[in-house]
Amino acid sequence: MARERGRRPDQGHARIAGNRFVEVDSSTGVATVYEAAKAVVVATGTRAAFPMIPGLTEIDVWDNRDVTSAKHAPRRLLVIGGGVIGVEMAQAWRQLGSEQVTVVEVFDRLLAREEPFVGAELERSLTRSRRRSRRGAGGNRPAAGHR
Ligand SMILES: Cc1cc2nc3c(=O)[nH]c(=O)nc-3n(C[C@H](O)[C@H](O)[C@H](O)COP(=O)(O)OP(=O)(O)OC[C@H]3O[C@@H](n4cnc5c(N)ncnc54)[C@H](O)[C@@H]3O)c2cc1C
Repeated sequence: MARERGRRPDQGHARIAGNRFVEVDSSTGVATVYEAAKAVVVATGTRAAFPMIPGLTEIDVWDNRDVTSAKHAPRRLLVIGGGVIGVEMAQAWRQLGSEQVTVVEVFDRLLAREEPFVGAELERSLTRSRRRSRRGAGGNRPAAGHR
């Protein structure tokens, strides 16, 4: 695939330099141009798509990068979304030192895509470990939850 065979992987900042051409700037200042035989695969990761939740753009929120790279545990953390990643991150930050972690979920249970008993068991476990979960939150209007 590469014009310079046997020189991959390369390290540097890549940019598209034309149809099937990728230019890589290395830290030494020497640029290398690769030519793909058929296509260039862009696998540079993704950014979180924020849902239309009123007020969300006016506050400082963590996205997927922040939640996995923050250096200090916030004292209180609220996680919107009780799916697998929301629950995983809630548990992680509680373990890392956050005193109070609240998970808000629009459906009536956590992990709503799984069998109902999974969410029920998880909620029991989270409650025991003093994480809070709020269920049945309609958009920005969290319904009464429980500890
Ligand atoms: C909290 C959390 C939990 C997750 N848990 C799971 C899980 O349990 N199982 C699972 O399958 N997935 C999980 N995921 C999703 C998974 O992490 C991502 O789907 C995966 O990392 C995406 O891989 P990627 O290679 O597309 O992007 P990335 O891992 O982001 O890699 C992209 C790379 O491209 C580099 N790059 C960007 N621009 C350039 C450029 N111009 N030139 C050169 N290099 C560049 C970046 O430096 C980076 O190293 C989780 C995600 C999150 C946020």
